[in-house]
Amino acid sequence: SKDFDDDNDPGRVRVSVRVRPRNGEELKSDADFADLVELQPEIKRLKLRKNNWSSESYRFDEVFTDTSSQKRVYEGVAKPVVEGVLNGYNGTIMAYGQTGTGKTYTVGKIGKDDAAERGIMVRALEDILVSASSASVSVEISYLQLYMETIQDLLAPERSNISINEDAKTGEVSVPGATVVNIQDLDHFLQVLQVGEANRHAANTKMNTESSRSHAILTVYVRRAMHEKAETGTKSRDKEAKPESLGDKGIPRVRKSKLLIVDLAGSERINKSGTDGHLIEEAKFINLSLTSLGKCINALAEGSSHIPTRDSKLTRLLRDSFGGSARTSLIITIGPSARYHAETTSTIMFGQRAM
Ligand code: ADP
Ligand code: MG
Repeated sequence: SKDFDDDNDPGRVRVSVRVRPRNGEELKSDADFADLVELQPEIKRLKLRKNNWSSESYRFDEVFTDTSSQKRVYEGVAKPVVEGVLNGYNGTIMAYGQTGTGKTYTVGKIGKDDAAERGIMVRALEDILVSASSASVSVEISYLQLYMETIQDLLAPERSNISINEDAKTGEVSVPGATVVNIQDLDHFLQVLQVGEANRHAANTKMNTESSRSHAILTVYVRRAMHEKAETGTKSRDKEAKPESLGDKGIPRVRKSKLLIVDLAGSERINKSGTDGHLIEEAKFINLSLTSLGKCINALAEGSSHIPTRDSKLTRLLRDSFGGSARTSLIITIGPSARYHAETTSTIMFGQRAM
């Protein structure tokens, strides 16, 4: 239905769904998942049982089954956004779903021993670095964790209260306090990502929390030097081409774009009847950011000119990377267990509202 090549629909969100393979326990006990959800990947449709008598069909941009490879998921979910970023447009790729359904596997898997296992972050960098090697392109990254409305630098964990800056004129969002690493090659990126993973684990152990309670945000900054010749050829330059290719005094201009890849906090509702005040606070913050993300995505889907990004740090960070000319792709992940009927249904609804 929605295609990024269709420039008449700039605010579109691409929405895909992926089901995780059954684990050992589910293989033994969950024979009835097929009754809850039926996947029809050839026609990009998912059927969800509503009750004993009826089911409803939902369309997605892509439907991935428990046997879909990481490569196919990358190509369907991320590649169109990465291509946009290489052409100068900002982009966002996000994974949304209940804890344990495969968000981190889908976006963050490093695949140290098996390249086939690599997730979206690694494959995106691979594509960007290939393109960078044949042009004057610089590739830099930062890697942040957002927990209870506090931003921590996963590449320098002592920086634990990073602020967001928004340029009043351009609307450009930046995080001046975050470590930025210039990436030389894929091995270098794998090392940096691994440091980030280790820090995420350590930080959460220290705070006595689960990594599933925080959002992890990888930002890739792509900068391409614009050369007058390559851009304009021998034709006379029109008004549009000149500022793009040459700045004041003939200094080559740089075209900047960025890609955000977000491993969202688990979307499951926390049991608020518990007495642990900290968990209740935590749940409030997760609700705040996911609810405000949902509002922004719905506004995008409705073609609204106002995207309400002010309500949470998550959406403030995303502000210049979705809507407008930016491309957004959301993958929702669901588990294959009939036990999580309510969470699976709510995840599917979140995805549908984004379309
Ligand atoms: P989440 O980040 O949503 O909490 P994880 O990505 O950690 O979930 O996945 C939970 C477990 O399931 C992990 O052990 C992960 O390796 C495994 N897993 C998830 N998706 C897949 C998949 N498509 N293929 C194989 N294993 C998967
Ligand atoms: Mg995870």
